[in-house]
Amino acid sequence: MRKKIIAGNWKMNFGPVSTSDYFHELLPMISSNPQIKDKINGGEISIELYVPSISLFTAMQSLSNSDVLIKIGAQNISDKLEGAYTGEISVNMLSEISIKASIIGHSERRHIYKETNSEINKKIITAMSSNLDVIFCIGETLEERNSGTTIDIISEQITTGLANVNIDNNFKDLNLIIAYEPVWAIGTGLTASSADAQQICQKIRELISDKYGEIIAHNIHILYGGSVKSNNTKDLLSQADIDGLLIGGASLKPDIFFSIIENSL
Ligand code: PEP
Repeated sequence: MRKKIIAGNWKMNFGPVSTSDYFHELLPMISSNPQIKDKINGGEISIELYVPSISLFTAMQSLSNSDVLIKIGAQNISDKLEGAYTGEISVNMLSEISIKASIIGHSERRHIYKETNSEINKKIITAMSSNLDVIFCIGETLEERNSGTTIDIISEQITTGLANVNIDNNFKDLNLIIAYEPVWAIGTGLTASSADAQQICQKIRELISDKYGEIIAHNIHILYGGSVKSNNTKDLLSQADIDGLLIGGASLKPDIFFSIIENSL
């Protein structure tokens, strides 16, 4: 049985002060709801927040005395471990403050910062060889969708993105999660219908099965992301191949993020 994952991506929002304020609001909402807290702490559902680098340490500190388990991750990493790479953040630096996960290949990195599948692949290899869990984002643009090439694009993103990645523990421990995020649905208010999202997530599982076999395809967690709100949470999560959600805009307000968590149970 795959666990549910509700992951928020704050993007370039919230420095350390607002990060601390966010947790002051969110944590009591969860703590005061024993049913939700038990499901989170019991491992039935994983709550994750991917915060800006400058706020990672504050996020970890905000959670250090909390009775709620929330996984904190970075939004991007360097493929290099250290050295003369001004402005970059390495997995070694993250591990000094016990950060154990990162998003890699988010569509904003791909399209605004022109990250290629090969660059994303190097980052995934660096992350996984340092035991950093990865949310690997893939998805097609509107143009690609309209030209009927969605599956080709996704297949290429998976093939190149995961080339030479050491698949050693069957993806069971959430060490590599795939997030299907159609670019046209990110931050636009347009959500893929649950049926459309399911169709592509099923296809992704089939592609993983063809490459790595059925057991790995069964174990891997696949998230949907793109204008998720609390009112479409239940419907998306009821789909057989959608194991969780990656949420941008709607993760920025603690009460809205909490209502998504409530609706996911
Ligand atoms: C995202 O940033 O990964 C995302 C899905 O954003 P939004 O929910 O705002 O579309």
